Amino acid sequence: MGKKNIDWENLGFGYVKTDKRFVSNFKNGAWDEGALVEDDTITISECAGVLQYAQTVFEGLKAYTTEKGQIVIFRPDLNAERLEASAKRLEMPVFPRDKFIDAVVKTVEANEAYVPPYGSGATLYIRPYMFGNSPVIGVKPAEEYQFRVFTTPVGPYFKGGAKPITIKVSDFDRAAPHGTGNIKAGLNYAMSLHAIVTAHEEGFDENMYLDAATRTKVEETGGANFLFVTKDGKVVTPKSDSILPSITRRSLVAVARDYLGLEVEEREVYFDEVKDFAECGLCGTAAVISPVGRINDHGNVINFPSGMDDMGPVTKKLYDTLTGIQMGRLDAPEGWIKVIK
Ligand SMILES: *Cc1c(COP(=O)(O)O)cnc(C)c1O
Repeated sequence: MGKKNIDWENLGFGYVKTDKRFVSNFKNGAWDEGALVEDDTITISECAGVLQYAQTVFEGLKAYTTEKGQIVIFRPDLNAERLEASAKRLEMPVFPRDKFIDAVVKTVEANEAYVPPYGSGATLYIRPYMFGNSPVIGVKPAEEYQFRVFTTPVGPYFKGGAKPITIKVSDFDRAAPHGTGNIKAGLNYAMSLHAIVTAHEEGFDENMYLDAATRTKVEETGGANFLFVTKDGKVVTPKSDSILPSITRRSLVAVARDYLGLEVEEREVYFDEVKDFAECGLCGTAAVISPVGRINDHGNVINFPSGMDDMGPVTKKLYDTLTGIQMGRLDAPEGWIKVIK
């Protein structure tokens, strides 16, 4: 199939409409077969559960072209599993895991012309999501739901190399203990918008959220988990019930242990320890790892030894190894890469 005439290298991270999307409806207690459709618009009740009480969950993953020219996706089974956990927490029906993977594969296949070529740095971002679409006015779960998958080509996250960013310790909380911080739900993002707009106005790239109960432990940013490296080369990543279990972070932990032979600690991380780390990065599907060069805690500044010019050496190795696995330059662990074609 021919590729669309897109300037892949100069694509940003914005929505570009592609040809087909997958839609399945949940009615009378069951999901229908689902189908690929061309219509990119949705018509729902003015009283839909999603519009009134934010009953919606989502996932994010990418399709890309490997060195050998195959189109692949990375660990979609974990997205399927996580969407299930998110749906259950918001009293939504579970979309079966095998059907989830099937829907993602079908949607990518149908939009093959938008999968960026190898080496462009661009990828096809895949957004599966589900929402309550039947009318709800008294507070309760909706009775009907829609599951959709659309794709949109996105540009290289780092144009001209990954530059370390500066983040601030936020005055806002992201997630309460026993709350919804560990699910991928739009509601966690709605309430983070004021915090990120404020941080940007103050000249920071991102927020570091601390645990809401004690404000002593590192949680995550609005949309990425933390990974630190100690001065003796150990990888440390925060463990908490209120952070979102990032698939990138979990994969980097495996890469650190099994490919690079590094020691990894998944544990509570006190903010007081952060000044002693050598490197810091943010992990998520979009960027894999964004290096953090500086953290500002109300005027007290932590400058990591890795500096503001380049990724730290261990972060770089982790980044190169995971992206090498994803792009087919290195052998992947069993089950990590799903070949679409
Ligand atoms: C999606 C997300 C991440 C990153 O998860 P990945 O599976 O690595 O993309 C981290 N934090 C939050 C809050 C998220 O929503």
